[in-house]
Amino acid sequence: MADESIFSKIIRKEIPAEIVYQDDLVTAFRDIHPLAPTHILIVPNKEIATVNDTTEADEAALGRMFTVAAKIARQEGVAESGYRLIVNCGKHGGQEVMHIHMHLLGGKALGPMLSRK
Ligand code: 5GP
Repeated sequence: MADESIFSKIIRKEIPAEIVYQDDLVTAFRDIHPLAPTHILIVPNKEIATVNDTTEADEAALGRMFTVAAKIARQEGVAESGYRLIVNCGKHGGQEVMHIHMHLLGGKALGPMLSRK
C-alpha cells in the first residue's frame, strides 16, 4: 500500500522501532524523538487516520490503548510519579502522523498542558 502510515510498517516490523508492547489490538513503541525521559506511542494495529475517523467498531482497540498505557506506565516506573497521555487530532491539534496514536510522556514534571503565553 503506497499511502500506508509509517506506524503500520512498525507494527508489522518492516521498519525498526523499539517495541515495548504488542497484542492483537495495539502496539506500543518508543518515540524516535523523545520529549521526556519516557515517551512511548501506543497505536491501534488497525490503521485509523484520526480521532474523527473512529467508529464504534474501534472501541475495543481504543479502550485497549488506555489499559495498555497503564501497564506500560507501571513497566516504565512512572505510574506513581504520574504521566501524561496525549492524542493529537488534525492540523490545529498538531498531528503529524495520520495513524491514531496516544503519546505516553513521563519521567519528569511536565508542567502545564498548554502555555498561557
Ligand atoms: P504527532 O505530532 O502526530 O502527534 O506525533 C507523531 C510522533 O511520531 C512524533 O512524536 C514523532 O517523533 C514520532 N515519529 C514519527 N516518525 C516516527 C518513526 O518512524 N518511528 C518512531 N518511533 N516515532 C516516530
